[in-house]
Amino acid sequence: MIPDISKIRKDFPILDQIVNGKPLIYFDNAATSQRPVQVVERVNEFSLRSNGNIHRATHSMANRTTEAFESGREVVRKYLNAAEAAEVIFTHGTTESINMVAFSFGEAFISEGDEVIVTEMEHHANIVPWQMMCERKGAILKVLPFSEEGELHIGLLDSLITGKTRILAVAHVSNTLGTINPLAEIIAKAHQKNVPVLIDGAQGAPHFRIDVQALDCDFYAFSGHKLYGPTGIGVLYGKRKWLDRMPPYLGGGEMIDRVTFAKTTYNELPYKFEAGTPHYVGAIGLAAAIEYLHNNDIQSLIQYEHDLLTEATYKLKQIEGLRIYGEAPLKTGVISFNIAGIHPFDLGTLLDQMGIAVRTGRLCADPVMDHFGVENMVRASFAFYNTSGEIEAFYRALIRLKGMF
Ligand code: PLP
Repeated sequence: MIPDISKIRKDFPILDQIVNGKPLIYFDNAATSQRPVQVVERVNEFSLRSNGNIHRATHSMANRTTEAFESGREVVRKYLNAAEAAEVIFTHGTTESINMVAFSFGEAFISEGDEVIVTEMEHHANIVPWQMMCERKGAILKVLPFSEEGELHIGLLDSLITGKTRILAVAHVSNTLGTINPLAEIIAKAHQKNVPVLIDGAQGAPHFRIDVQALDCDFYAFSGHKLYGPTGIGVLYGKRKWLDRMPPYLGGGEMIDRVTFAKTTYNELPYKFEAGTPHYVGAIGLAAAIEYLHNNDIQSLIQYEHDLLTEATYKLKQIEGLRIYGEAPLKTGVISFNIAGIHPFDLGTLLDQMGIAVRTGRLCADPVMDHFGVENMVRASFAFYNTSGEIEAFYRALIRLKGMF
């Protein structure tokens, strides 16, 4: 079924505006996506009628909030097909989710001389927390490289994984190259050697149906704001067998069972990892975003986004001097590029003057910049509310700017 994009766009009023004298074209969806009215209204309605701090009171407002928060968790559980809601931890986003695992898994399972594997295409959020943990523990960080097309050299995993490897962390989808990584193959190789796998799903969860049980991943992290939900909310899925054995990340209210000055015992999952007042308004908004996706035909949205990518890639390749970074056969709607002779920041600023929002800079992926020997890139990233007409306007804008330089 072809999705009715003009109908969908009505759900995103932010898109219908003039920026710098031109109709807004929002191509920065990999940084953050826009929120449909259904999410905004749910959050507003909740804030105006039902607010009360969760889990800690007997009054009705608190009970309503608790119920909405916990049903939000169930919505996420279903979205991920997690075996139980206790395996779904609300965090502030992908970054916090990965830090949580790097710290708590590291405390429980990593010692001096052990090894952790990440890949060369990771966002800084899936590099730095592991580096910090390795420094603390005296462990070694190893890196799986990618090819010029932007595909991981999966074959090297057999030798990279050793008896000392304790965990492997990899992006579902690269935020710079758009590559969709072959998770099933990576997880199978790691599990063959009893190595658990964390998936950074920040760019995966917004574009695919996720089934953590079918994938058999050990951890899956994502952010609400890239999934048409609010900022400040994210999720860490973890298999109970690991979470049960990991110490808490933060201490405080809610994560405890009983506190005495001699000793504190901890709450059950998932609360052991949810210290303090959680961002329950965000969790409720995230659930509304997931429900919004479910009310549309997700499969047709995925196909539509892919068609946009194919069209944009074809058009951009007509522009002389334009180089695309990342041309793996399996990609999502992300195109990072440079045009010879034009500084990426100039390009970004001038596109903005034409109402077109793209990202410029190092894209939180210094190793990817180093791989290609560039300082910065321009990145256009698409969502299902973008259109073929916008891609045409983008292409024409690039041609015009190229002519100016
Ligand atoms: N991982 C990837 C692949 C990302 O693209 C991003 C954000 O761009 C992150 C992690 C960090 O997400 P957040 O800033 O929402 O924690």
